[in-house]
Amino acid sequence: MFFSEGDDLDECTFRKCETMKRILVAGGAGFIGSSLCERLINEGHHVLCVDNLYTGKKANIAALLNHEHFEFIEHDITTPIHLEVDEIYNLACPASPVQYQKDPLYTIHISYQGTLNLLDLARQHKATFLMASTSEVYGDPHVHPQRETYWGNVNPIGPRACYDEGKRISETLTINYRKTHHVNTKIVRIFNTYGHHMDTLDGRVVSNFIVQALKGEPLTLYGDGSQTRSFCHVEDMVDGLMKMMQSDASLEGPINLGNPGEYTVKEIAEIILEKTGSPSALDFYPLPQDDPIKRKPDITLAKKHLDWEPRIALSEGLDRTIIYFKTQLKN
Ligand code: UDP
Repeated sequence: MFFSEGDDLDECTFRKCETMKRILVAGGAGFIGSSLCERLINEGHHVLCVDNLYTGKKANIAALLNHEHFEFIEHDITTPIHLEVDEIYNLACPASPVQYQKDPLYTIHISYQGTLNLLDLARQHKATFLMASTSEVYGDPHVHPQRETYWGNVNPIGPRACYDEGKRISETLTINYRKTHHVNTKIVRIFNTYGHHMDTLDGRVVSNFIVQALKGEPLTLYGDGSQTRSFCHVEDMVDGLMKMMQSDASLEGPINLGNPGEYTVKEIAEIILEKTGSPSALDFYPLPQDDPIKRKPDITLAKKHLDWEPRIALSEGLDRTIIYFKTQLKN
């Protein structure tokens, strides 16, 4: 926050004028978006949270709703929106495989039309635009760990394509608005992220396993559980997003953001069972089509250009997330 006891008011008022930005967070009621809104408010900005509540939830932003510098606007970005802003974070898209495959055409539509509308807004107001892309652009990767220079291995007609190709076209739009219309754009590729404000029904592995373990239900492992993922705590992710937004205009990305610690899905299940002390069994189901076999970010670029790397170890992050889900399940 800007004001603390003993601060000189005039100086504070001046600082506030100097540094307070109007920041649009599209998807601001979602899992990552809501934590980002919170951080931006705490840093003294005016936040316009735009969300159609397709997967986002008002409960995620409940603590912010009465803040004088927070505005919630229920709106679907596939329709243009007119707001005066300095910065735009585009996180508006269902992101869990279960959610983005429910209505694949909508996932494609928001990735293309939604991104286009926000890029137009950025162009109009000379705002900086940050595109939250995904490690899914690498598909089922043949290069490990994944570097930003790798073009990926995506099945364009598979069940994940609506999201993977959707985000690829979002990236393409973003880079071409930079080249053609000179918008200050930035692309980050978000790897698996977990933490508070994940929905209990989100469908992703960490939330599924914790909720199942806490309820004493069997953990649903897809395949033999040997596929790997790398999990980044949401607070680290928000730091990375903000650092990218604040970076020099010449830094366009894409830049990977994720935690390079790599675990098999079975290891994650075992860690969660141990931490929750749950008696749940492991149930094995067929591996979904095109499920990537391994994933781990190379974060050399983020370290070099953003001075960013994750600080929250998986063990600590899972402890915090288990506490969060315990509260969720009580309500
Ligand atoms: N997974 C699983 N059980 C679940 C949910 C997911 O075994 O209940 C597996 C899934 O098949 C994938 C990995 O966990 O290999 C990560 O899945 P998630 O949906 O979290 O994200 P993805 O990285 O696939 O987008």
